[in-house]
Amino acid sequence: MSYTSNRSQQLFLRAQQSIPGGVNSPVRAFKSVGGTPVFIKKAKGAYLYDEDENRYIDYINSWGPMILGHAYEPVVKAIQEKAIHSTSFGAPTELEVEMAELIKSMVPNVDLIRMVSSGTEACMSAVRLARGYTGRNKIIKFEGCYHGHADCFLVKGGSGMATLNIQTVPGVTGGVANDTLTAPYNNLSAVEKLIEENKEEIAAIIIEPIVGNMGCILPQPGFLEGLRKLCDDEGIIYIFDEVMTGFRLAQGGAQEKLNINADLVTYGKVIGGGLPVGAFGGKKEIMQYIAPLGNVYQAGTLSGNPIAMVAGFTMLTELKNNSSTYKELDEKSSFLEKGLHEVLNNKKIPHTINRFGSMMSLHFCQHDVIDFDTAAKADIPLFNKFFHHMLENGIYLPPSGYESWFLSNALSYEDLESTIEAADKFSV
Ligand code: PMP
Repeated sequence: MSYTSNRSQQLFLRAQQSIPGGVNSPVRAFKSVGGTPVFIKKAKGAYLYDEDENRYIDYINSWGPMILGHAYEPVVKAIQEKAIHSTSFGAPTELEVEMAELIKSMVPNVDLIRMVSSGTEACMSAVRLARGYTGRNKIIKFEGCYHGHADCFLVKGGSGMATLNIQTVPGVTGGVANDTLTAPYNNLSAVEKLIEENKEEIAAIIIEPIVGNMGCILPQPGFLEGLRKLCDDEGIIYIFDEVMTGFRLAQGGAQEKLNINADLVTYGKVIGGGLPVGAFGGKKEIMQYIAPLGNVYQAGTLSGNPIAMVAGFTMLTELKNNSSTYKELDEKSSFLEKGLHEVLNNKKIPHTINRFGSMMSLHFCQHDVIDFDTAAKADIPLFNKFFHHMLENGIYLPPSGYESWFLSNALSYEDLESTIEAADKFSV
């Protein structure tokens, strides 16, 4: 396979004449791994096809949402049927009510939920709400976590910021950055210290309960529970960013899986079945501060868009009705994890695989990866080499060691075996 195909190379050159860096979101540019990004023409089930019709087994799945695979027929059909009746009204619809009711029936701790159009909007709005509710300005986030590109999150961010090694973002004012305090993930005493030093000033702690933006990182026992207690004791709003984990780890996301209650929860891409959607929700006591009930203003022309709603509603309904999906996904992910361990161990290549359900990542190192520092100490050049080796063998992994892999239930065991066989051909 020649994945740096003529068409992708030509298109990348052409794209750079009109789009900054040739891409509409930085990680897609292959800047860290090098080479030419693959331009995708279409996808079906577990497979992506590039502009030269090369086929790839997909482990990105649009960074999470394609849990049931690409072009999932009920979702495609629902979109087609809905589009005939116009693509946007900017007025309330019955479908929005059904969507809110469906989400409430699937996830814990959500009395009221507001739809937006991206994960960034969801997290940004949740933080504004927490500030409006508490009357406090500062927030705590964790090094290497990513909550979208709103100004207040662009401090020690993961994902593309980590991949491109961007420490401070020009354009984010000092005032905004100073209101964002950061602590290492899995370090409860660092958070305690921040709270002590900023008594009665912290509005919210926002966290990825399972991290997907510095590779996949799991919370150590007691960490998330400890944060819950701190929030309760100090009147701080606990925000779970479930943009990646919501509906992927379980119907009720990380809240259900880990049995921890958040005060506010944010969702993203997953609930749009691949269309641009996000949402934030939580307890009525807090959510009623949002306009038009309260004065915390938040709005969106395309919020609750009928095409996005019908795609999301259809996919979430499938997930709700097929309780075996999560078990199957977990079994497939475990199969891949074991297979990769085996081939890399045989080759004596030091590595760490972190996995929670269908989110996982591979770090080339001997140590445990528990936070940003330990992720950054992994052998990134070796990951980049592995990435290109896999791509040449038709396996599409995230083009960065700081991203999680996302499996879809469209993957067959044959696909997983091919992936493991490809890894077996890797040499350092
Ligand atoms: N939160 C998390 C945990 C994310 O992973 C992302 C995006 N990957 C976002 C928020 C932002 O979502 P979006 O790109 O849709 O704005």
